[in-house]
Amino acid sequence: MGTSKSAQLLKRAVKIIPGGVNSPVRAFKAVGGGPLFISRAKGSKIYDADGNEYIDYIGSWGPMILGHAHPKVTAALKKALDKGTSYGAPTELEVTLAGLTLKAFPSMEMVRFVSSGTEATMSAIRLARAYTKRDGILKFEGCYHGHADSLLVKAGSGAATLGVPDSPGVPQDLARLTYNATFNDLDSVRAIFEKAPAKIACVIVEGAPGNMGVALPKVGFMEGLREITKKYGALLIMDEVMSGFRLCYGGAQKIYGIDPDLTCLGKVIGGGLPVGGFGGKRAIMELLSPSGPVYQAGTLSGNPIAMTAGIETLKLLQAKGTYDRLFKTTNALCEGIAEIAARRGVPVHVAIAGSMFTVFFSERPVANWPDAKACDTARFGRYFTKMLKNGIYLPPSQFEAVFVGLAHTPKDIERTLEAADKGLKGI
Ligand SMILES: *Cc1c(COP(=O)(O)O)cnc(C)c1O
Repeated sequence: MGTSKSAQLLKRAVKIIPGGVNSPVRAFKAVGGGPLFISRAKGSKIYDADGNEYIDYIGSWGPMILGHAHPKVTAALKKALDKGTSYGAPTELEVTLAGLTLKAFPSMEMVRFVSSGTEATMSAIRLARAYTKRDGILKFEGCYHGHADSLLVKAGSGAATLGVPDSPGVPQDLARLTYNATFNDLDSVRAIFEKAPAKIACVIVEGAPGNMGVALPKVGFMEGLREITKKYGALLIMDEVMSGFRLCYGGAQKIYGIDPDLTCLGKVIGGGLPVGGFGGKRAIMELLSPSGPVYQAGTLSGNPIAMTAGIETLKLLQAKGTYDRLFKTTNALCEGIAEIAARRGVPVHVAIAGSMFTVFFSERPVANWPDAKACDTARFGRYFTKMLKNGIYLPPSQFEAVFVGLAHTPKDIERTLEAADKGLKGI
Protein backbone atom coordinates (compact mmCIF):
# COMPACT_ATOMS: atom_id res chain seq x y z
CA MET A 1 0.00 0.00 0.00
CA GLY A 2 1.41 3.34 -1.02
CA THR A 3 1.39 6.53 0.96
CA SER A 4 2.70 8.86 -1.74
CA LYS A 5 -0.17 11.34 -1.41
CA SER A 6 0.54 11.76 2.31
CA ALA A 7 4.20 12.29 1.47
CA GLN A 8 3.31 14.94 -1.13
CA LEU A 9 0.97 16.68 1.26
CA LEU A 10 3.65 16.70 3.96
CA LYS A 11 6.07 18.34 1.50
CA ARG A 12 3.55 21.12 0.89
CA ALA A 13 2.62 21.37 4.57
CA VAL A 14 6.13 21.71 6.03
CA LYS A 15 6.71 24.80 3.91
CA ILE A 16 3.78 26.67 5.40
CA ILE A 17 2.94 24.95 8.72
CA PRO A 18 5.73 24.36 11.28
CA GLY A 19 6.67 20.69 11.03
CA GLY A 20 3.69 20.25 8.72
CA VAL A 21 1.31 19.63 11.62
CA ASN A 22 -0.91 21.74 13.84
CA SER A 23 -0.11 19.72 16.96
CA PRO A 24 3.30 18.10 17.51
CA VAL A 25 2.00 14.68 18.64
CA ARG A 26 0.73 14.14 15.09
CA ALA A 27 4.24 14.06 13.67
CA PHE A 28 5.94 10.68 13.40
CA LYS A 29 9.26 12.12 14.55
CA ALA A 30 9.78 9.63 17.40
CA VAL A 31 9.04 6.58 15.27
CA GLY A 32 10.44 7.68 11.92
CA GLY A 33 8.63 8.50 8.69
CA GLY A 34 6.03 11.14 7.93
CA PRO A 35 2.51 11.35 9.31
CA LEU A 36 -0.44 10.06 7.33
CA PHE A 37 -2.77 12.72 6.04
CA ILE A 38 -6.30 11.63 6.78
CA SER A 39 -9.19 12.17 4.42
CA ARG A 40 -12.09 10.55 6.27
CA ALA A 41 -13.10 8.25 9.11
CA LYS A 42 -16.10 6.09 9.94
CA GLY A 43 -16.69 3.90 12.99
CA SER A 44 -13.42 2.25 14.00
CA LYS A 45 -11.73 2.95 10.65
CA ILE A 46 -9.68 5.83 9.38
CA TYR A 47 -8.63 6.41 5.75
CA ASP A 48 -5.57 8.26 4.54
CA ALA A 49 -5.19 10.46 1.47
CA ASP A 50 -4.12 7.45 -0.59
CA GLY A 51 -7.29 5.59 0.38
CA ASN A 52 -5.62 3.09 2.74
CA GLU A 53 -7.83 1.83 5.55
CA TYR A 54 -6.58 1.52 9.14
CA ILE A 55 -8.16 0.43 12.40
CA ASP A 56 -7.88 3.62 14.41
CA TYR A 57 -6.62 3.45 17.99
CA ILE A 58 -5.90 7.15 18.37
CA GLY A 59 -9.51 8.27 18.18
CA SER A 60 -8.41 11.89 17.80
CA TRP A 61 -6.34 11.36 21.00
CA GLY A 62 -9.35 10.41 23.07
CA PRO A 63 -12.55 12.18 22.07
CA MET A 64 -13.93 9.62 19.59
CA ILE A 65 -15.04 7.09 22.19
CA LEU A 66 -18.19 6.33 20.16
CA GLY A 67 -16.23 5.83 16.96
CA HIS A 68 -16.06 8.24 14.03
CA ALA A 69 -19.12 9.88 12.50
CA HIS A 70 -21.59 8.17 14.82
CA PRO A 71 -24.94 8.45 12.99
CA LYS A 72 -26.79 9.92 15.98
CA VAL A 73 -24.13 12.55 16.67
CA THR A 74 -23.87 13.42 12.98
CA ALA A 75 -27.65 13.77 12.64
CA ALA A 76 -27.81 16.09 15.67
CA LEU A 77 -24.95 18.17 14.28
CA LYS A 78 -26.60 18.54 10.87
CA LYS A 79 -29.75 19.80 12.57
CA ALA A 80 -27.76 22.19 14.73
CA LEU A 81 -25.86 23.61 11.75
CA ASP A 82 -29.07 24.89 10.20
CA LYS A 83 -29.73 26.96 13.32
CA GLY A 84 -26.50 28.93 13.00
CA THR A 85 -23.02 28.09 14.13
CA SER A 86 -22.24 30.70 16.80
CA TYR A 87 -24.14 33.44 18.60
CA GLY A 88 -21.81 34.84 21.25
CA ALA A 89 -24.75 34.66 23.65
CA PRO A 90 -25.90 32.01 26.12
CA THR A 91 -27.93 29.02 24.95
CA GLU A 92 -29.99 26.25 26.50
CA LEU A 93 -27.43 23.77 25.11
CA GLU A 94 -24.82 25.09 27.55
CA VAL A 95 -27.17 24.64 30.48
CA THR A 96 -27.95 21.11 29.31
CA LEU A 97 -24.29 20.06 28.97
CA ALA A 98 -23.44 21.75 32.30
CA GLY A 99 -26.23 19.76 33.95
CA LEU A 100 -25.00 16.49 32.45
CA THR A 101 -21.45 17.31 33.56
CA LEU A 102 -22.33 18.09 37.17
CA LYS A 103 -24.41 14.93 37.38
CA ALA A 104 -21.46 12.84 36.18
CA PHE A 105 -19.02 14.65 38.51
CA PRO A 106 -20.68 15.19 41.90
CA SER A 107 -17.57 17.04 43.16
CA MET A 108 -18.42 19.87 40.77
CA GLU A 109 -21.03 22.41 41.83
CA MET A 110 -20.45 24.73 38.90
CA VAL A 111 -18.69 24.45 35.56
CA ARG A 112 -17.49 26.81 32.86
CA PHE A 113 -16.95 25.67 29.28
CA VAL A 114 -13.96 26.61 27.16
CA SER A 115 -12.69 25.33 23.82
CA SER A 116 -9.77 23.08 24.82
CA GLY A 117 -8.22 21.15 27.66
CA THR A 118 -5.38 23.65 27.72
CA GLU A 119 -7.77 26.50 28.42
CA ALA A 120 -9.43 24.43 31.15
CA THR A 121 -6.23 23.74 33.09
CA MET A 122 -4.83 27.23 32.52
CA SER A 123 -8.01 28.80 33.85
CA ALA A 124 -8.30 26.38 36.78
CA ILE A 125 -4.79 27.32 37.87
CA ARG A 126 -5.53 31.04 37.65
CA LEU A 127 -8.58 30.44 39.80
CA ALA A 128 -6.62 28.38 42.34
CA ARG A 129 -3.99 31.11 42.58
CA ALA A 130 -6.64 33.77 43.10
CA TYR A 131 -8.56 31.73 45.66
CA THR A 132 -5.56 30.81 47.78
CA LYS A 133 -3.64 34.06 47.15
CA ARG A 134 -0.55 31.92 46.46
CA ASP A 135 1.52 31.68 43.28
CA GLY A 136 3.16 28.23 43.36
CA ILE A 137 1.71 25.15 41.70
CA LEU A 138 2.71 21.53 42.09
CA LYS A 139 2.54 19.04 39.24
CA PHE A 140 4.09 15.69 38.44
CA GLU A 141 6.94 15.02 36.10
CA GLY A 142 5.66 13.36 32.92
CA CYS A 143 2.08 14.52 33.40
CA TYR A 144 0.72 16.72 30.63
CA HIS A 145 -1.87 19.39 31.27
CA GLY A 146 -1.90 21.29 27.99
CA HIS A 147 0.54 23.91 26.79
CA ALA A 148 0.03 26.88 29.12
CA ASP A 149 3.35 28.40 30.25
CA SER A 150 3.16 27.30 33.89
CA LEU A 151 2.50 23.71 32.87
CA LEU A 152 5.25 23.20 30.29
CA VAL A 153 7.78 22.32 32.96
CA LYS A 154 8.83 18.66 32.95
CA ALA A 155 5.76 17.98 30.82
CA GLY A 156 4.62 14.73 29.26
CA SER A 157 2.95 13.84 25.94
CA GLY A 158 4.48 15.45 22.83
CA ALA A 159 6.79 17.53 25.02
CA ALA A 160 8.31 14.34 26.44
CA THR A 161 8.25 12.48 23.11
CA LEU A 162 10.13 15.28 21.36
CA GLY A 163 12.56 15.83 24.22
CA VAL A 164 11.41 19.34 25.15
CA PRO A 165 9.74 18.86 28.55
CA ASP A 166 10.88 22.37 29.53
CA SER A 167 9.91 24.59 26.65
CA PRO A 168 12.01 27.58 25.65
CA GLY A 169 9.89 30.71 25.78
CA VAL A 170 8.51 29.99 29.24
CA PRO A 171 9.85 32.82 31.43
CA GLN A 172 12.20 31.59 34.16
CA ASP A 173 10.30 33.70 36.66
CA LEU A 174 7.16 31.75 35.89
CA ALA A 175 8.76 28.29 35.61
CA ARG A 176 10.23 28.86 39.07
CA LEU A 177 6.70 28.79 40.48
CA THR A 178 6.06 25.29 39.12
CA TYR A 179 7.18 22.56 41.51
CA ASN A 180 7.52 19.04 40.14
CA ALA A 181 7.05 15.90 42.20
CA THR A 182 7.31 12.22 41.25
CA PHE A 183 4.03 10.51 40.43
CA ASN A 184 3.08 7.75 42.89
CA ASP A 185 5.57 9.12 45.43
CA LEU A 186 3.79 10.97 48.25
CA ASP A 187 7.06 11.65 50.04
CA SER A 188 8.20 13.75 47.09
CA VAL A 189 5.02 15.81 47.47
CA ARG A 190 5.40 16.17 51.24
CA ALA A 191 9.01 17.28 50.84
CA ILE A 192 7.96 20.16 48.57
CA PHE A 193 5.16 21.27 50.88
CA GLU A 194 7.45 21.13 53.90
CA LYS A 195 9.92 23.43 52.18
CA ALA A 196 7.27 25.86 50.94
CA PRO A 197 4.23 25.34 53.18
CA ALA A 198 2.45 28.60 52.32
CA LYS A 199 3.51 29.04 48.71
CA ILE A 200 1.59 26.37 46.81
CA ALA A 201 -1.86 27.24 45.49
CA CYS A 202 -2.69 23.82 44.08
CA VAL A 203 -1.65 20.33 43.19
CA ILE A 204 -2.68 19.42 39.67
CA VAL A 205 -2.70 15.75 38.72
CA GLU A 206 -4.00 13.65 35.84
CA GLY A 207 -6.87 11.44 37.05
CA ALA A 208 -5.09 8.48 35.50
CA PRO A 209 -1.98 9.65 33.70
CA GLY A 210 -2.02 8.80 30.01
CA ASN A 211 0.58 11.29 28.83
CA MET A 212 3.67 9.32 29.86
CA GLY A 213 1.82 6.32 28.58
CA VAL A 214 -0.74 4.92 31.03
CA ALA A 215 0.49 5.01 34.64
CA LEU A 216 -1.93 3.91 37.31
CA PRO A 217 -2.07 5.64 40.68
CA LYS A 218 -0.99 3.29 43.45
CA VAL A 219 -3.47 2.51 46.21
CA GLY A 220 -3.64 5.49 48.53
CA PHE A 221 -1.80 7.93 46.26
CA MET A 222 -4.79 10.08 45.28
CA GLU A 223 -6.13 9.92 48.84
CA GLY A 224 -2.72 11.06 50.03
CA LEU A 225 -2.79 14.06 47.69
CA ARG A 226 -6.19 15.01 49.03
CA GLU A 227 -4.91 14.78 52.60
CA ILE A 228 -1.72 16.74 51.99
CA THR A 229 -3.47 19.54 50.06
CA LYS A 230 -6.07 19.87 52.85
CA LYS A 231 -3.36 20.00 55.48
CA TYR A 232 -1.51 22.83 53.73
CA GLY A 233 -4.54 24.78 52.51
CA ALA A 234 -3.85 24.10 48.83
CA LEU A 235 -6.45 23.11 46.26
CA LEU A 236 -6.51 19.73 44.53
CA ILE A 237 -7.14 19.97 40.80
CA MET A 238 -7.90 16.70 39.06
CA ASP A 239 -7.16 17.01 35.37
CA GLU A 240 -9.63 14.59 33.87
CA VAL A 241 -9.31 15.91 30.32
CA MET A 242 -8.25 12.43 29.26
CA SER A 243 -9.65 10.21 32.02
CA GLY A 244 -13.10 11.83 32.16
CA PHE A 245 -15.71 9.50 30.62
CA ARG A 246 -12.85 7.10 29.75
CA LEU A 247 -12.50 5.22 33.04
CA CYS A 248 -16.24 5.16 33.65
CA TYR A 249 -19.20 7.48 33.14
CA GLY A 250 -17.59 10.15 35.31
CA GLY A 251 -13.86 10.02 35.90
CA ALA A 252 -10.99 8.76 37.98
CA GLN A 253 -12.35 10.66 40.98
CA LYS A 254 -15.41 8.42 41.00
CA ILE A 255 -13.26 5.30 40.89
CA TYR A 256 -10.85 6.46 43.60
CA GLY A 257 -13.52 8.17 45.70
CA ILE A 258 -11.75 11.54 45.68
CA ASP A 259 -13.48 14.88 46.12
CA PRO A 260 -11.20 17.40 44.35
CA ASP A 261 -11.70 21.16 44.63
CA LEU A 262 -11.52 21.65 40.88
CA THR A 263 -11.78 19.33 37.88
CA CYS A 264 -10.70 19.89 34.29
CA LEU A 265 -12.44 18.24 31.35
CA GLY A 266 -11.96 18.03 27.60
CA LYS A 267 -11.71 15.41 24.85
CA VAL A 268 -14.73 13.05 25.27
CA ILE A 269 -16.93 15.84 26.63
CA GLY A 270 -16.80 17.51 23.21
CA GLY A 271 -17.45 14.34 21.22
CA GLY A 272 -14.90 15.38 18.59
CA LEU A 273 -15.58 19.11 18.64
CA PRO A 274 -13.57 21.68 20.59
CA VAL A 275 -14.90 21.63 24.16
CA GLY A 276 -13.10 21.90 27.46
CA GLY A 277 -14.49 22.62 30.88
CA PHE A 278 -13.37 23.35 34.39
CA GLY A 279 -15.46 23.35 37.50
CA GLY A 280 -15.68 22.58 41.16
CA LYS A 281 -16.76 24.08 44.43
CA ARG A 282 -19.15 27.02 44.27
CA ALA A 283 -17.08 29.27 46.54
CA ILE A 284 -14.14 28.94 44.16
CA MET A 285 -16.07 29.07 40.88
CA GLU A 286 -17.97 32.20 41.89
CA LEU A 287 -14.68 34.08 41.85
CA LEU A 288 -14.88 33.85 38.06
CA SER A 289 -15.86 36.86 36.03
CA PRO A 290 -18.59 38.14 35.79
CA SER A 291 -19.71 36.89 39.22
CA GLY A 292 -16.22 37.59 40.62
CA PRO A 293 -12.98 39.34 39.65
CA VAL A 294 -10.96 36.48 38.08
CA TYR A 295 -11.05 37.10 34.36
CA GLN A 296 -11.60 34.29 31.89
CA ALA A 297 -13.42 34.46 28.56
CA GLY A 298 -13.82 32.96 25.08
CA THR A 299 -15.49 34.11 21.86
CA LEU A 300 -16.42 30.55 20.92
CA SER A 301 -16.79 29.12 24.45
CA GLY A 302 -19.96 27.03 24.75
CA ASN A 303 -20.34 27.04 20.97
CA PRO A 304 -23.72 25.53 20.01
CA ILE A 305 -22.32 23.00 17.54
CA ALA A 306 -19.66 21.85 20.02
CA MET A 307 -22.22 21.65 22.86
CA THR A 308 -24.48 19.53 20.65
CA ALA A 309 -21.70 17.01 19.97
CA GLY A 310 -20.95 16.84 23.70
CA ILE A 311 -24.56 16.37 24.73
CA GLU A 312 -25.23 13.63 22.16
CA THR A 313 -22.01 11.83 23.08
CA LEU A 314 -22.72 11.84 26.81
CA LYS A 315 -26.31 10.68 26.23
CA LEU A 316 -25.12 7.73 24.15
CA LEU A 317 -22.50 6.86 26.77
CA GLN A 318 -25.23 6.59 29.39
CA ALA A 319 -26.77 3.54 27.69
CA LYS A 320 -26.67 0.44 29.85
CA GLY A 321 -23.70 -1.85 29.39
CA THR A 322 -21.68 0.70 27.39
CA TYR A 323 -18.63 0.69 29.61
CA ASP A 324 -18.74 -3.05 30.23
CA ARG A 325 -18.53 -3.54 26.48
CA LEU A 326 -15.71 -1.03 26.21
CA PHE A 327 -13.68 -2.69 28.98
CA LYS A 328 -14.29 -6.15 27.56
CA THR A 329 -12.88 -5.05 24.20
CA THR A 330 -9.92 -3.33 25.87
CA ASN A 331 -9.09 -6.31 28.05
CA ALA A 332 -9.35 -8.79 25.17
CA LEU A 333 -6.93 -6.66 23.18
CA CYS A 334 -4.49 -6.23 26.07
CA GLU A 335 -4.54 -9.89 27.06
CA GLY A 336 -3.98 -10.88 23.45
CA ILE A 337 -1.02 -8.54 23.01
CA ALA A 338 0.56 -9.62 26.31
CA GLU A 339 0.18 -13.27 25.32
CA ILE A 340 1.73 -12.71 21.87
CA ALA A 341 4.62 -10.70 23.35
CA ALA A 342 5.34 -13.47 25.85
CA ARG A 343 5.30 -16.06 23.05
CA ARG A 344 7.59 -13.91 20.91
CA GLY A 345 9.94 -13.34 23.84
CA VAL A 346 9.48 -9.55 23.82
CA PRO A 347 9.35 -8.10 27.34
CA VAL A 348 6.35 -5.80 27.62
CA HIS A 349 4.23 -4.45 30.38
CA VAL A 350 0.66 -3.57 29.44
CA ALA A 351 -0.90 -0.86 31.62
CA ILE A 352 -4.69 -0.48 31.40
CA ALA A 353 -6.89 2.35 32.67
CA GLY A 354 -10.49 1.72 31.67
CA SER A 355 -10.60 2.04 27.90
CA MET A 356 -7.05 3.23 27.40
CA PHE A 357 -3.80 1.33 27.63
CA THR A 358 -0.11 1.40 26.81
CA VAL A 359 2.16 -1.44 25.78
CA PHE A 360 5.40 -0.48 27.48
CA PHE A 361 8.50 -2.12 26.08
CA SER A 362 9.83 -2.66 29.53
CA GLU A 363 10.69 -5.54 31.86
CA ARG A 364 8.86 -3.93 34.74
CA PRO A 365 5.67 -2.01 35.43
CA VAL A 366 5.71 1.72 34.81
CA ALA A 367 4.68 3.77 37.84
CA ASN A 368 6.13 7.16 36.92
CA TRP A 369 8.17 9.13 34.42
CA PRO A 370 11.62 7.68 35.30
CA ASP A 371 10.13 4.19 34.66
CA ALA A 372 8.52 5.29 31.38
CA LYS A 373 11.68 7.01 30.17
CA ALA A 374 13.62 3.77 30.67
CA CYS A 375 11.48 1.90 28.10
CA ASP A 376 12.96 0.63 24.85
CA THR A 377 11.63 3.39 22.57
CA ALA A 378 13.59 2.11 19.55
CA ARG A 379 11.79 -1.20 19.87
CA PHE A 380 8.49 0.64 20.22
CA GLY A 381 9.29 2.45 16.97
CA ARG A 382 9.84 -0.84 15.13
CA TYR A 383 6.59 -2.24 16.54
CA PHE A 384 4.70 0.91 15.56
CA THR A 385 5.98 0.82 11.98
CA LYS A 386 5.08 -2.83 11.54
CA MET A 387 1.62 -2.33 13.01
CA LEU A 388 0.99 0.60 10.67
CA LYS A 389 2.09 -1.47 7.66
CA ASN A 390 -0.46 -4.05 8.75
CA GLY A 391 -3.28 -1.52 8.92
CA ILE A 392 -3.22 -0.61 12.61
CA TYR A 393 -3.04 3.10 13.43
CA LEU A 394 -1.45 3.51 16.89
CA PRO A 395 -0.21 6.66 18.64
CA PRO A 396 3.30 7.29 17.24
CA SER A 397 4.99 7.42 20.65
CA GLN A 398 5.78 5.09 23.55
CA PHE A 399 4.59 7.86 25.88
CA GLU A 400 0.96 7.95 24.81
CA ALA A 401 -2.19 5.96 25.50
CA VAL A 402 -3.97 3.74 22.99
CA PHE A 403 -7.67 4.59 22.90
CA VAL A 404 -10.30 1.88 22.50
CA GLY A 405 -13.77 2.88 21.38
CA LEU A 406 -17.26 1.46 21.18
CA ALA A 407 -16.95 1.06 17.42
CA HIS A 408 -14.13 -1.48 17.75
CA THR A 409 -15.64 -4.86 16.86
CA PRO A 410 -14.49 -8.39 17.74
CA LYS A 411 -13.35 -8.62 14.10
CA ASP A 412 -11.21 -5.48 14.60
CA ILE A 413 -9.63 -7.05 17.67
CA GLU A 414 -8.94 -10.24 15.77
CA ARG A 415 -7.28 -8.28 12.93
CA THR A 416 -5.30 -6.21 15.42
CA LEU A 417 -3.98 -9.30 17.19
CA GLU A 418 -3.02 -10.85 13.85
CA ALA A 419 -1.07 -7.67 13.12
CA ALA A 420 0.50 -7.75 16.60
CA ASP A 421 1.64 -11.30 15.97
CA LYS A 422 3.63 -10.01 12.98
CA GLY A 423 4.46 -6.70 14.65
CA LEU A 424 6.12 -8.29 17.66
CA LYS A 425 8.10 -10.80 15.63
CA GLY A 426 11.82 -10.29 15.44
CA ILE A 427 11.85 -6.76 16.78
C1 LIG B 1 -5.06 16.43 26.11
C2 LIG B 1 -4.86 16.86 27.50
C3 LIG B 1 -4.85 18.22 27.86
C4 LIG B 1 -4.89 19.32 26.85
O1 LIG B 1 -6.07 19.36 26.12
P1 LIG B 1 -6.08 20.10 24.69
O2 LIG B 1 -7.52 20.04 24.29
O3 LIG B 1 -5.16 19.34 23.82
O4 LIG B 1 -5.62 21.49 24.93
C5 LIG B 1 -4.78 18.54 29.19
N1 LIG B 1 -4.70 17.59 30.14
C6 LIG B 1 -4.70 16.28 29.83
C7 LIG B 1 -4.65 15.27 30.92
C8 LIG B 1 -4.77 15.87 28.50
O5 LIG B 1 -4.72 14.57 28.21
